[in-house]
Amino acid sequence: MEDGGNTAGAGVLQRYAEVRERIAAAARAGGRNPAEVRLVAVSKTFPAAVVAPLARLGGVLLGESRVQEAAAKIAELAGAPCQWHLIGHLQSNKANRAAELFSLVHSVDDVELLRRLDRRCLELGRTLDVLAEINVGGEEVKSGCTGEALPQILAAAAECRAVRLRGLMTVPPYTEDPEGARPFFARLRELRERWAPRFAGALDLRELSMGMSHDFEVAVAEGATIVRVGSAIFGGR
Ligand SMILES: *Cc1c(COP(=O)(O)O)cnc(C)c1O
Repeated sequence: MEDGGNTAGAGVLQRYAEVRERIAAAARAGGRNPAEVRLVAVSKTFPAAVVAPLARLGGVLLGESRVQEAAAKIAELAGAPCQWHLIGHLQSNKANRAAELFSLVHSVDDVELLRRLDRRCLELGRTLDVLAEINVGGEEVKSGCTGEALPQILAAAAECRAVRLRGLMTVPPYTEDPEGARPFFARLRELRERWAPRFAGALDLRELSMGMSHDFEVAVAEGATIVRVGSAIFGGR
């Protein structure tokens, strides 16, 4: 699709609406309420000028991978009625900055990082929602903790005062066929089903952040409450 100059914004808005439609259709097909699934439009690598029409729409969630890139974009789009999510790996030396910028951090994968975010949020006088990122495929190159490490994170989260652990996130191994991701999405759902009852008094683990441009419909079928979609909205990177 050719999308130069003035029409780029219209293209982004249209594709955002189309993705929302596809999410709603997938939810209904699975007997779910479409309102249970939120869309994060992943704006990483795209400049503020391209993101602006979506940011100004109202109520849009925008996902960024890197703290520094996000900080610049958030400053450029200051005042826009949107929320910013961190979806990429968070290094501990960027935790303080992340605590200032985001409304949801999808990528907490160790106890120290969780505690550091909590300390910083206490200083800032804010609460911060986070998700625990699980490397369900066990790939070495990926960030995320193992399912075995999850209970330690849950126990630490139960002690946090400003950070609220709201659920789990994963990026499954890539397969050409989106159906290849299904068992990994199911595994994330099973982890939540296993652990949520044991921490029910302390944590509300409602969110499952899973599904990207090429497999979000499968993720919705497996129970996603948040999908993270970049290229299907903004185009190729
Ligand atoms: C880039 C990214 C996405 C979006 O990927 P698309 O294939 O462009 O939809 C989702 N989640 C994470 C963690 C990402 O890094």
